[in-house]
Amino acid sequence: MNESFESLARDVRACRVCQPHLDHPVRPVLAGRSGAVIRIVGQAPGTRVQASGKPFTDPSGVRLRDWLGVSEAQFYDERLFAITPMGFCFPGLDAKGGDKPPRKECAPLWQDRCDKALSNVQLTLLIGQYAQKWHLKDRAQKTLTETVRRWRDHAPLHIALPHPSWRNNAWLKRNPWFELEVLPVLRERVRMLLRTATMTDF
Ligand code: SF4
Repeated sequence: MNESFESLARDVRACRVCQPHLDHPVRPVLAGRSGAVIRIVGQAPGTRVQASGKPFTDPSGVRLRDWLGVSEAQFYDERLFAITPMGFCFPGLDAKGGDKPPRKECAPLWQDRCDKALSNVQLTLLIGQYAQKWHLKDRAQKTLTETVRRWRDHAPLHIALPHPSWRNNAWLKRNPWFELEVLPVLRERVRMLLRTATMTDF
């Protein structure tokens, strides 16, 4: 029998593997319960999430919820959404003030266990190249743009997305097909899954 996500989350929250490499306290941030139907695999918390201890409590979260067509209450309902980034802890800032990549120690330790503990998930959203390369393996293309553009290759179980950060505003402008073509499909799939989940489980 698979371990429960609740048990796994306790282990993750106790993890301190990266502490020797960071000059701030590690604070693993994740969300979800074993029965969650949609999983979000992002990159790693930024400074605001490091402070709040809750995923996507920043402008990226506002945009992501808009992309999904869900309210805050739905997004933070752990019976619906599990949030398991490639790095559970804030990795620090680089010289330009951007977030460093997710700690490389994290995914090998935890992602496979999350896969098993979240066996009810019917849609996994892969945000950014790290999540796409890990979860799609050789189905990930050389660039994020190509992976996102070929969303039909991964549906209905996965949908690859760019990061919803303001840093990607230029990408969104250069790739209008994303909002025209991908977001309507994403919203409809999320709407159907949440409707079914709330009808059957709640
Ligand atoms: S980033 Fe992952 S591996 Fe590193 S301390 Fe946090 S939970 Fe542990």
